Amino acid sequence: MPELPDIRLYLDLLRPRLIGATLDSASVRGVSLLRTFDPPLDSAETARVTHLDRIGKRIVIAFDNEVRFIVHLMIAGRFRWSDAPAVAATGLPRGGGRIDQAALRFSRGTLTLTEAGTKKRASLHVVLGDAALAAFNPGGLDVFTCNERAFESAIKRENRTLKRALTDPSILDGIGNAYSDEILHAARLSPVTRTHALDASTCAGLLAAARETLESWTRTLRTEFDLNHDGTPLGPSNPGRFPRAGEITAFRLGFAVHGRYGRPCPACTTPVQRIMYAENECNYCPRCQTNGKLLADRAMSRLLKGDWPRTIEELEDSR
Ligand SMILES: [Zn+2]
Repeated sequence: MPELPDIRLYLDLLRPRLIGATLDSASVRGVSLLRTFDPPLDSAETARVTHLDRIGKRIVIAFDNEVRFIVHLMIAGRFRWSDAPAVAATGLPRGGGRIDQAALRFSRGTLTLTEAGTKKRASLHVVLGDAALAAFNPGGLDVFTCNERAFESAIKRENRTLKRALTDPSILDGIGNAYSDEILHAARLSPVTRTHALDASTCAGLLAAARETLESWTRTLRTEFDLNHDGTPLGPSNPGRFPRAGEITAFRLGFAVHGRYGRPCPACTTPVQRIMYAENECNYCPRCQTNGKLLADRAMSRLLKGDWPRTIEELEDSR
């Protein structure tokens, strides 16, 4: 799932391409993507893009006639950009393949929303006016603007595991499965530690780790896609390189633990471990984060009730 660094990158790359452009036509495939019918999808046609924004992991495209497109990419949704002007006025571009779910044809090029896989979860809402945007805000704190006290109070509102507290969009903003693993590794905290067990200085350390992790990956992505560190274009004729399919990924070279099961922790070389749950996997280093304890590899909910007798030493013996 695209998370805060990916969403910021998309916004950085879309702003110079879309702001000031007019929408020539919009089309969607099938019924699963478009979740609203009033105002209709074509209500933004001939309107000009005034700004782009973010609500949690959702991207908002705002037009000068008050129409707002709200896109949630979910797990497999991605954007593709083509500078080529739209050839056909309606329908999805030829040769795009079945993963193309929507095409927004602007005066400067075409923005296509793709979604691979059989489960179509991405969504597009069309609403009128900024007041309608509030309903889409899950209410999570932005780690870059909140203070330590607000952060501590948010993650302790309920006694959650750290993994769940970090990834709950009503607690924190824009953090998903991948970056929560990276943040917890940077903070040297176990994913199953309960938030009520944290003292103030540990919470402050976690907030600092979240900021550092998200900021440093945002900078890395901006460099990779030819932008300045602050997300601005390198120059007026260079709006940055738009990512190809597969370049917005939850598995980045350079991650410490996420997606690196069995591979050495970059800090201590201990093999990275995992907990499987739902459709996800949580990765952690048992030496850096759990005092050598292995968290049994079964459903998270069962794990949290049990204890974990196996140790890192047993793991090393069994290899
Ligand atoms: Zn380690």
